[in-house]
Amino acid sequence: MKHIDVKPRALTEEEKKLRDQGVYDSFANYIVYCETCGKVESTNMYIMSAERRAKMLKDKGVLCDVCNLDTWAVGYPENSMTGFGTFEKKTGKKSIFGAKK
Ligand SMILES: [Zn+2]
Repeated sequence: MKHIDVKPRALTEEEKKLRDQGVYDSFANYIVYCETCGKVESTNMYIMSAERRAKMLKDKGVLCDVCNLDTWAVGYPENSMTGFGTFEKKTGKKSIFGAKK
């Protein structure tokens, strides 16, 4: 699935760190996009699908048709209204990892 009007943003360092620990937002619609120019490759994926797709594109050497690079990465929709809200952790620290329970 692909929405070309979606603006992707990169995962933050905190999100990447959490992801490495197996933490992710199962409500979010992840995106595969070109890190260099921002071209959206596909949208509306679970984190595992998005990671697999980004890896597959790189492994196959698929190049972005805008900037001709293979800098595919997993991102989030900017200003996403679904799944990805803020919430207060017990520490009082704001986090964008706000999976709704
Ligand atoms: Zn590109």
